[in-house]
Amino acid sequence: MARGTRQGWTFVRVFWALGLVLAAVTSGLTHASGGKDGFDVQVQLKWHHQFQFAGYYAALEQGYYREAGLNVSLREPTAHHTAIERLMMGRAHFAIADTGAVIYRSTGVPLVALGAISQRSPSVLITRDDGSISGLGDLRGQKVMLGGGYMNAELIAMLRNAGVEITDLVVVPSEASLDPFIEGRIAAHNGYTTNEPYLLDALGIDILMFSPGDYGVDFYGDILLTTEALIETHPEVVEAFWEATRRGWAYAVARPDEVIDLILRDYNTQDKTRAHLEFEAEELIRLIMPQVVPIGYMHRDRWEHIERVFRDQELLMGDTNLDSFIYASLTEYDLWDWMRDYRWPLAIAVLLVAGALLVLHSMRLKVEVQARTIDLQRAKEFAEVEARTDYLTGLPNRRHFLETLTRCIAQAERYDSPLSLVAIDIDLFKQINDSYGHAAGDDALQQIGDVLKRFVRSGDIAARMGGEEFAIACVNTDAADATALAQRLCEAVAETSILYGEISFQVTLSVGVATRAPGEGIAELLKKSDMALYNAKAEGRNKVCQWC
Ligand code: GH3
Ligand code: MG
Ligand code: MG
Repeated sequence: MARGTRQGWTFVRVFWALGLVLAAVTSGLTHASGGKDGFDVQVQLKWHHQFQFAGYYAALEQGYYREAGLNVSLREPTAHHTAIERLMMGRAHFAIADTGAVIYRSTGVPLVALGAISQRSPSVLITRDDGSISGLGDLRGQKVMLGGGYMNAELIAMLRNAGVEITDLVVVPSEASLDPFIEGRIAAHNGYTTNEPYLLDALGIDILMFSPGDYGVDFYGDILLTTEALIETHPEVVEAFWEATRRGWAYAVARPDEVIDLILRDYNTQDKTRAHLEFEAEELIRLIMPQVVPIGYMHRDRWEHIERVFRDQELLMGDTNLDSFIYASLTEYDLWDWMRDYRWPLAIAVLLVAGALLVLHSMRLKVEVQARTIDLQRAKEFAEVEARTDYLTGLPNRRHFLETLTRCIAQAERYDSPLSLVAIDIDLFKQINDSYGHAAGDDALQQIGDVLKRFVRSGDIAARMGGEEFAIACVNTDAADATALAQRLCEAVAETSILYGEISFQVTLSVGVATRAPGEGIAELLKKSDMALYNAKAEGRNKVCQWC
């Protein structure tokens, strides 16, 4: 760092100390009441009145400061001191300055940034759009107007990012006048998007603007500053002023024309035209980005980025102490204040979400229980059907048959109706197994079971009693009808070709028919049908015998 610059910042420290003494001896800024009501507030503007300070005019005009108990006066800059210097001297409570404030902070001056009014910096390097300059690289060896110290740190960082060192340029010290640029004595002028483009356009000069934002150098524009001392002694004044200012800015960005009227009426110390103010308003509102972020929003990352740019250019003296530099109420608002402000809607939302989750959970449980109950019911029904069914033929099994036969006997007894039992045994079935195999025997059992199903009349029940034995209970059927049915069944089976793959073979049945006599139970009936069946076997098989 240049020796002169370092000495300059030492001077800033001395200046600050003197300011403290001055502030102590002058009572102008100390308020006797200590409260915020009727507090006289001096605001030091960075420049002369123009739309750049529209939010403060709006807050005054709309009575926001008055409502907050503040008597606010806005001061234009003096020829001798910058806004920050006036703040340091204790001549103002608040000052509007730029990001250079963080450099003062690094020298130990306890400045605090309340908020960034412009989210983007208006600083640009302006060149003529006459084909001579198409990129920043074309400025090498050319005369470029730049401010000293930190004034153009962002422009220098932009040039560096474009590969142009300050030593590559012929730097011309900055001056407010546009004449050197208009007269073509310099190639580039350091200006603001809010001002020079309007003036140059009015002169019919086409320009190019190189903006640091396009080269990865992202600075804030105007910053509202105060001191740690004021925050310590009058935190409520600082908070009230900041809130009223933000309201003022919200008003100004929403109704720029109204505030321009106000400037033309009460503040037009620069004799700006309405068109000029309109141009400035439009550009400034673009930089404030009110649609994107809350007015005054600052993020620590941005300040760290700004700090890095200054440090790269050896402009920082020491620790910037960003935690103290960035006003707490705004940075913390992100979470805690927001939660505090919205605690009731938040609590209701949490309760609603918890309630909804509970309802969903209980609904899910209910559905799961229902599904499980249905599964169990189905499993039970399936088990019951399985327990009553013969797995091979699908006919009722012996247990099911005997239960049904018992009920049929009870009914026959009650209504004095006839009931016959047909006992069936496949002839010489062992030979079938021996000749064609056990699987062929199984198929034969299934196919004979199918024939049986066709023969069963409604109300009757046919079953596989086990092995190669079947039975039919014929309700309301006397001996003659039962014998006739058995005969037809015998013939049908004898005529059926049992198919097993390529093989086909014939089987016959021996059938015993017994008809219940009044008073007879299941045991007698089964015994009689067995004996009839025995007779059929004895008489040569493929035969129906009736027990008389
Ligand atoms: P009969 O005319 O005297 O009744 O002669 P049979 O060979 O049919 O009588 P037996 O009681 O001697 O043999 C019955 C055969 O039935 C013996 C057994 O292998 C066969 N069998 C019993 N249950 C099954 C089965 O589920 N599948 C097969 N493939 N065969 C069975
Ligand atoms: Mg048998
Ligand atoms: Mg047999």
